[in-house]
Amino acid sequence: MTLPSGKLTQNGKFFQAAEAFKKGGLPELVKVYEKIKDGIWVYNGVFELIDAWVEESTLENRKVFKFKLNVTDKSINQKNKRVEELKDISHNRMIPTSVKLEVWKRDNGKCTQCGSDDNLHFDHILPFSKGGTSLRSDNIRLLCARHNLQKSSHII
Ligand SMILES: [Zn+2]
Repeated sequence: MTLPSGKLTQNGKFFQAAEAFKKGGLPELVKVYEKIKDGIWVYNGVFELIDAWVEESTLENRKVFKFKLNVTDKSINQKNKRVEELKDISHNRMIPTSVKLEVWKRDNGKCTQCGSDDNLHFDHILPFSKGGTSLRSDNIRLLCARHNLQKSSHII
């Protein structure tokens, strides 16, 4: 929970934020990144931190922090975010890791429009809001942030 200096660790800060929420405060918004493979991290969107507890891990013989997160459409950075974009991000969280890995392999870890490997997002070819599935790789592709934004402006 704390460093030898008495300062809170990152886990300690999360734990306290969850405690504050349980006492009636506003939930802390956290950005979640998922490791889909060694060296490949993808942004999964914003979640609300709603619970925290400590468990004994018999496997590792130490105590581990557990956190409970809630899917939210809220944004940490309120400006420059449009509703459509947030919807996309929230549905991206529903893509199973196995599908993400398949898409990543198929698209060679690059934007399918320009080949950039910077700031990639998993994009629904047929939008989730129009019935597109998250469960099959043929409806998901990799786009860089620039092409992802261009696409959502077309949908609007
Ligand atoms: Zn691109």
